[in-house]
Amino acid sequence: MRALRLAAWGETPTLAEVERPVPHGAEVLVRVEATGLCHSDLHVIGAAPGNLPYRLPFTLGHEVAGRIETLGPDTDGMRVGDRVVLYGPWGCGACERCATGRDNYCDRRDTLAWHGAGLGRDGGMAEYVLVPSARHLVPIGGLPTDQAAPLSDAGLTSYHAVAGLRHALAEGATTVVIGVGGLGHLAVQILRATTAGRVLAVDVREDALALADRSGAEFGTLVRTDTAHVLRERSGGAGVDAVLDFVGTTQTLELAAGVLRPGGELAVVGSGGGHLTVSKPGVLPPGFRLSVPFWGTRPELAEVVALARSGAIHVETERFPLSAATEAIDRLRGGRVRGRAVLVPD
Ligand code: NAD
Ligand code: ZN
Ligand code: ZN
Repeated sequence: MRALRLAAWGETPTLAEVERPVPHGAEVLVRVEATGLCHSDLHVIGAAPGNLPYRLPFTLGHEVAGRIETLGPDTDGMRVGDRVVLYGPWGCGACERCATGRDNYCDRRDTLAWHGAGLGRDGGMAEYVLVPSARHLVPIGGLPTDQAAPLSDAGLTSYHAVAGLRHALAEGATTVVIGVGGLGHLAVQILRATTAGRVLAVDVREDALALADRSGAEFGTLVRTDTAHVLRERSGGAGVDAVLDFVGTTQTLELAAGVLRPGGELAVVGSGGGHLTVSKPGVLPPGFRLSVPFWGTRPELAEVVALARSGAIHVETERFPLSAATEAIDRLRGGRVRGRAVLVPD
């Protein structure tokens, strides 16, 4: 089968012919129908040697949906042909966190040579993907697979980040979403669908602001020198209740700290490598609370799938055949993807 393999750090991944896996024990083989391309894939490809614990080569792709092709002899609860999305953050499988579907916060994460499917383990930018256990599969019913695949990270990570802020988002509360790409446009929709608050959006691209508008944001603005002032005015003057930062550079972290009201919440999702200095006394608003969420839990993935099936959220996708993966990667790198790029085996 064909698979998009990362063979060397910093090098463009290439399609290679690899053996189709055979499921043993509790493993499940899934025939891939769609795989989302995440900005994290770019961070992985461009990582300096030694920065990530992954062994090379491996197949990329951590947002995967498809049909069950073959079940290992020890699986139960699933049938061949079932349409599923993969829960991607595979942990050790044995700790208390993994046992309760919170592999994203696996207690042994530091000891593993992977962070999940397509992140150190062979993922879904291929014709088939081998899944270690049926517990990593969530049924999608009639949801199209190119909608379902991005839910497993862009949807799930946004949902998990919003869940951590929900206590602060009562009626009339204001949230700023920074970076309206694959994750951000779903965060705007999830905020609208699951909280009573207002959403303001920030990006560096006009077409991302148009996407924010279609996703339900009340107002969008490009990053300018007076952006913090504009957002504070929009919030009524005191500052906003929460910021979701899907970029994570020093510039966006400082913007976030500059627009929050006292007691405000900042969730940093973007892996931009920026820094924000915590000091007391200092410039951070009193009562400032910070979270650095990673991906989400398996029960939350089922909730995101249910939201999408109800029609409350919709992924804007651009489809590419798997054979055009390099073009999709170039476009994402150049900021020329609207919503989520999805690769489909051809
Ligand atoms: P994306 O490229 O689809 O979207 C990023 C958006 O941010 C784009 O619209 C871009 O124009 C905008 N942007 C870039 N610089 C900006 C700036 N300075 N100010 C405002 N907007 C800016 O990326 P994505 O796939 O949505 O991923 C977003 C980030 O989240 C990436 O860093 C990714 O690695 C990270 N991520 C984290 C997790 C997690 O679990 N914490 C999971 C998935 C992705
Ligand atoms: Zn991702
Ligand atoms: Zn674990």
